[in-house]
Amino acid sequence: MRIDVLTLFPEMCEGVFSTSILGKAREKGIVSLNAVNFRDFSGNKHNSVDDTPYGGGGGMVLKPDPIFAAVEHVLGIEASPLENGSESAVPSPSSVKPRIILMCPQGKTYNQKIAEELAQEQHLIFICGHYEGYDERIREHLVTDELSIGDYVLTGGELPALTVIDSVVRLQPGALGNETSAITDSFSTGLLEYPHYTRPAEFRGWKVPDMLLSGHHANIEVWRREQALQRTLERRPDLLESAELTLKDKKTLERLKNEIKPE
Ligand code: SAM
Repeated sequence: MRIDVLTLFPEMCEGVFSTSILGKAREKGIVSLNAVNFRDFSGNKHNSVDDTPYGGGGGMVLKPDPIFAAVEHVLGIEASPLENGSESAVPSPSSVKPRIILMCPQGKTYNQKIAEELAQEQHLIFICGHYEGYDERIREHLVTDELSIGDYVLTGGELPALTVIDSVVRLQPGALGNETSAITDSFSTGLLEYPHYTRPAEFRGWKVPDMLLSGHHANIEVWRREQALQRTLERRPDLLESAELTLKDKKTLERLKNEIKPE
């Protein structure tokens, strides 16, 4: 997998790209991670990439030319379609069709399902905004996706893009030390994950549940499933509407619902 991030602050990305699981995945050649400064594609001697909005109003707007030129550079295309007067979107030079993702609070809200979908792609290009907004032609004629990481506004798209990248790279085969951990993680199963404990068996009088010390693996799996159901019911009951539940899960949930006393 190849991931390119178009940003005005490549130094924000490099630290994340070279640390922990992402750093190891990069070293192992599982993923190629590149930060591209789109100021290098400003095409003017002042290196400016933004301008005042047509129609007036506050804030600066990211110009289309540097963003289109930076994406074309990443795709290995020399000439800019805008310079050539072409109205078409950027063509892909090979059979790989990259996803060009605009980080934006107005985009689709990111979740684990989208992470799993993006993890199947071969090439992702992220565009990180800054300032008030983007020239609308970037949205209309360049990007394939618009993603938001939640209903709040940050100063730039770097942290949102890195959030998405981290969650996608950890799903690549071989990226995590323990492959099973991504499978049982919260949301991957449609539920929140069950609670974890490690040594000591008793800490300040708080004991690890007897079941986990029993050594009976089949019973432990049943206990963990029930804990995951209970945790999801208590914290995120909305997830239960779309989770894949067995008949046994449904019966367990009915029992748990009856056990939860109204406050
Ligand atoms: N004026 C914009 C609006 O109201 O939608 C907000 C611009 S914000 C100050 C600057 C940049 O930060 C955005 O272009 C985007 O790249 C990034 N950003 C901010 N909040 C975000 C979020 N929740 N999800 C994804 N990107 C976000």
